[in-house]
Amino acid sequence: METASNTLLERLRQAVGEVHVITQADEQARFLTDWRGLWTGKALAVVLPGSAQEVAAVVSACAACGAPVVPQGGNTGQVAGATADQRGNAVVLVTTRMQRVRSIDVDNATITLDAGCVLAHAQDAARAAGMLFPLSLGAEGSCTIGGNLATNAGGTQVLRYGNARELALGLEVVLADGQIWNGLHGLRKNNTGYDIKDLMIGSEGTLGIITAATMRLFPLPRAQCTAMAAVGSIHQVGRFLKLCRDAFDASLTGFELISGPCLRLVASAYPQLARPFPQSDQPWYVLLELSDSEGEDHARERFDAALGDALERELIVDAAIAQSVAQSRAMWHLRESITLALAQDGKCVKHDISLPVSALPDFVEQTDAMLQQHFPGVRNFTFGHLGDGNLHYNVARPADGTDAQLHAWAAQLSARVHDGVHAARGSISAEQGIGRARTQDLLKYKSPVELRVMQSIKQALDPQGILNPGVLLHGG
Ligand code: FAD
Repeated sequence: METASNTLLERLRQAVGEVHVITQADEQARFLTDWRGLWTGKALAVVLPGSAQEVAAVVSACAACGAPVVPQGGNTGQVAGATADQRGNAVVLVTTRMQRVRSIDVDNATITLDAGCVLAHAQDAARAAGMLFPLSLGAEGSCTIGGNLATNAGGTQVLRYGNARELALGLEVVLADGQIWNGLHGLRKNNTGYDIKDLMIGSEGTLGIITAATMRLFPLPRAQCTAMAAVGSIHQVGRFLKLCRDAFDASLTGFELISGPCLRLVASAYPQLARPFPQSDQPWYVLLELSDSEGEDHARERFDAALGDALERELIVDAAIAQSVAQSRAMWHLRESITLALAQDGKCVKHDISLPVSALPDFVEQTDAMLQQHFPGVRNFTFGHLGDGNLHYNVARPADGTDAQLHAWAAQLSARVHDGVHAARGSISAEQGIGRARTQDLLKYKSPVELRVMQSIKQALDPQGILNPGVLLHGG
């Protein structure tokens, strides 16, 4: 056993260079715990390849020894998909040395990037070429393109531009036997059989290791305008969304829901952040973004008209339009600070759910009431991408309760929330994936037919089961 491990370590060092193979426990630690600090694993080695060829050499070495490979990008995932298990035989393959912007084709409106490229750098590179790369999420300063694709990340611009899958045109992937599949092209049409790219996207590192991607770019909007509205009920939020869609159509690029408790939590965790209507105590707030092709004055006029209409029809209680880029950033900062403020508040039971937008208001109202009945005093911190029907439905301990009490309730509480989502034909994972944390839920809510198809695909592409075992497919 020891000899096999030593042989593998030797091959890994040959593949990526000794300095990029980490075997010391203290140096490995940050790669072996998930972002939420709930899952910890062990590894034979953490390796940092610098190219697709080096990734291929690492995977070939692991395949020869039957060693598990756990791909990892920025390690910002919320479901522990990049965390090794406890066996200690895994090789954690971290892509963060692979950061090149390989090319930008302005005429084809595409950008080709290494998988380890940080999302914010990809956005910057596109902007420097006069284009927009619209994928945007709170972790964009550290999550990677490979991780975004492996989880089919969503974020705040899905309403207009779609999620990571809809932005991807081509991939380069190292398969489980170490072969490199070069599917890097910038085609918007390509009907030549099974779409391997679409199989890889959202597969959470269980079918292949993404080493590069060609992604769609868009014209930079001439103006972006942000506003925040205070709303008296979740049903009014639904009606307000309809009004905004009618008024702005494709120019509506963001419609983010923030509950009153979320906004108050952020305000108390980060009192230095400016917040519109500081005295207001409404149950819901909406952060809106309008992207306008004619310019800022035009955008503001449209906002003025639509928000005025919404006020008149009593769909909203108050509204504030950002008057400068700084004010707009401050509003987004509030939204993006919710996850961090929640992490500071203590443990919470998280649900990343999606439902038809039309079903969301009833779901929220009924589920909030149901939880109070069964778990008195729990605090709801609901926010999310309402325009996409996606809510982060988070439940924290009662104000006078303990994390231990919440922990004791967690399984039953989640089952009740997810049963409700399932009954409404929603999804128990809208954008974060399944990882290690939600494999039992997948077993419970996916139909046997779907599970069998997924297992067949896994078996065909990774017959040894070395790619991210235990993630996505239970026991896999
Ligand atoms: P990791 O966490 O390193 O890995 C995630 C999964 O992808 C793992 O299963 C891993 O094995 C696999 N993987 C990573 N790289 C590769 C690769 N090159 N090839 C194959 N598999 C790979 N998510 C959203 O969708 N929308 C949001 O709005 C959002 N907001 C967030 C806000 C905050 C503050 C935080 C901390 C997270 C947020 N997330 C959000 C979750 C997370 O940022 C995304 O899931 C992101 O796409 C993960 O990227 P990563 O590089 O960190 O991947």
